[in-house]
Amino acid sequence: MIANELAESLLNGDRRALAKAITLVESTNAIHREQAAQLLDLIMPHTGNSIRLGISGVPGVGKSTFIEAFGGHVIDQGHKVAVLAVDPTSAVSGGSILGDKTRMEALSRNDNAFIRPSPAGQTLGGVTRRTRETLLLCEAAGFDVIFVETVGVGQSETAVAEMTDMFLLMLLPGGGDELQGIKRGIMELADLILVNKSDGDQQAVANRTVSDYQMALHFLHPRSRNWQARVQAISALKNHGVNEVWQTVEEYRETLGNAGEIESRRSAQARAWLWSETADALLTELKENQAVKALVDPLERDVMQGKTTPTIAARKLIDAFRKLS
Ligand code: GDP
Repeated sequence: MIANELAESLLNGDRRALAKAITLVESTNAIHREQAAQLLDLIMPHTGNSIRLGISGVPGVGKSTFIEAFGGHVIDQGHKVAVLAVDPTSAVSGGSILGDKTRMEALSRNDNAFIRPSPAGQTLGGVTRRTRETLLLCEAAGFDVIFVETVGVGQSETAVAEMTDMFLLMLLPGGGDELQGIKRGIMELADLILVNKSDGDQQAVANRTVSDYQMALHFLHPRSRNWQARVQAISALKNHGVNEVWQTVEEYRETLGNAGEIESRRSAQARAWLWSETADALLTELKENQAVKALVDPLERDVMQGKTTPTIAARKLIDAFRKLS
């Protein structure tokens, strides 16, 4: 039985088993999905023992440089770091913002680090599900600091915030314009804002940017009752302020952990995941149903031409599905 053997090797921290397990959860093949489900069931009791960090920022802000410096630091403290990605652009353009270039070279050679590019997916939902499952596999394999990285393109931030414990937003020095360019909703997700590239002649600008964001945060709805979002200036390149980021992460973990908030967030996330899985699975089944297939083209046409309303058309699809399922 493949799932049993894989689970055993995975729990022993075998990297090849981890890579194989991830390939299994990323597969769309029905047999693989069944094996992946068995595997996830087996490893579930051994998951949860990590701090899950989401990180976002526009391409070029310095995410890989930061993760490399930060990862090296926490590995020196005795941790094991996994870096995953949710890259919705790979689905849209075929290329990938996060995955293509050689990134985090030192970290990728470190035995206590595991770096996995974003799964290529049809939809953000598909990519998100596989990344969630991969995160659990990494925990079972003993990784206790897990990054889930995404790019500043909107919806993917929400998806990443909903699978992590703490959300880090990276920005560039240069306040005003930048401040207006960031969507309020994304700022509200942030537990920690990092103003990167605070070095050389940018340092003064970076300090001003920190104050600007500190001010801006006062006008936002806080995400947690137990934590006020912070802003810190760093230079990922020069490794300035990176240790302080880890201190903040540890303080966050302790504060929210003691208040029971990490646990309650994770339970709420798991419940939301249950319902999105249910919705996805039902929709897939509905779309594959023969009676529904026969109705889709004419109904879509009628809706597009304004001959019927989407509500009525949706009801017809569901009625056809119910009769035959
Ligand atoms: P990503 O696209 O967000 O992953 O950004 P990268 O980590 O690839 O960095 C983009 C560019 O910015 C690279 O040329 C880095 O060397 C540079 N960079 C990253 N962090 C810093 C920093 O703290 N200071 C300066 N001056 N440059 C940086």
